[in-house]
Amino acid sequence: MKQAKITAYAKINLVLDVLRKREDGFHEVAMVMQAIDLADTIHLKEAQRNWLHTDNRHIPPNMNNLAMKAVVLMQERFPQVKPLEVTLEKRIPVAAGLAGGSTDCAAVMLGIDKMYNLGLSLGELEALGAELGSDIPFCMGGPTALATGRGEHIEALPHCPALYLVLVKPSFGVSTPKVYGNLRVDERKNHPDVQACIDALHGQDAVKVIDSMGNLLEQSTFELQPEVKALKDDMISAGCSHVLMSGSGPTVFAAFTDEAQAQAYYQNIKNKYPGAIFARTVNQNMLEERVALL
Ligand code: ATP
Repeated sequence: MKQAKITAYAKINLVLDVLRKREDGFHEVAMVMQAIDLADTIHLKEAQRNWLHTDNRHIPPNMNNLAMKAVVLMQERFPQVKPLEVTLEKRIPVAAGLAGGSTDCAAVMLGIDKMYNLGLSLGELEALGAELGSDIPFCMGGPTALATGRGEHIEALPHCPALYLVLVKPSFGVSTPKVYGNLRVDERKNHPDVQACIDALHGQDAVKVIDSMGNLLEQSTFELQPEVKALKDDMISAGCSHVLMSGSGPTVFAAFTDEAQAQAYYQNIKNKYPGAIFARTVNQNMLEERVALL
């Protein structure tokens, strides 16, 4: 009986710019995405029928779960894929701006590709993932990439030098469509400098990478949920000058180039925000070892 275990890494946006609203209603974005070692674990096992077990009550326990949508899509395209039992150990906070659902979806597709020796190229996997969501193609590859279009066009970037991160996810969620709806992109000033981040990655300069961080959606989320702005301000006052909201929020992260400093900051922030998470950027080796056949 075929089985696999897959590590599904979360992402943060080091830079998120929105260029314009398109005629089809979507927004044109330019984002530097980075995989981090905060991860869900997914077990796939052949079974009598498709079945999902999950320990998280905030996500759909049925075929609406993105992990199950991935199973069904792969079965439609590749008839050799048998019914699968999916066990999803969720650690990535839900509706957090960390691509939790997208990475589960990508991980299931990667696992099925390996289990059934489908031999799909990264491009083919990205195209399949794009059918289910704009953030999924990035989650297939990484660890560092530029995402453009609606976020589904992926261009690999030099891997980010090691960064140490402290993430805080407020107890409430934010609606991504509402954040984009409130954006009024033509009126926004202070677009982040995507090219500065790309240049810093080419130069492997971690300090310049965190200096270039920016997110055009922050202001829009802050207007809708002032608590997110208050959280960011609080995290800056706690002793970090590089603090940013990820995606459309509401997770806010502090970034450090020095691990000891990040650990000290984490110990301090945990007193006030017990759910705070310590994470590191993912490197190529970790990505290559994501899928284990059992
Ligand atoms: P993104 O950063 O890609 O915008 P997010 O981190 O904000 O995503 P998710 O955690 O992916 O948000 O959750 C978004 C929605 O997807 C939620 O309403 C959730 O119920 C649904 N969902 C479906 N499947 C999953 C899954 N496997 N894990 C998390 N959420 C899922």
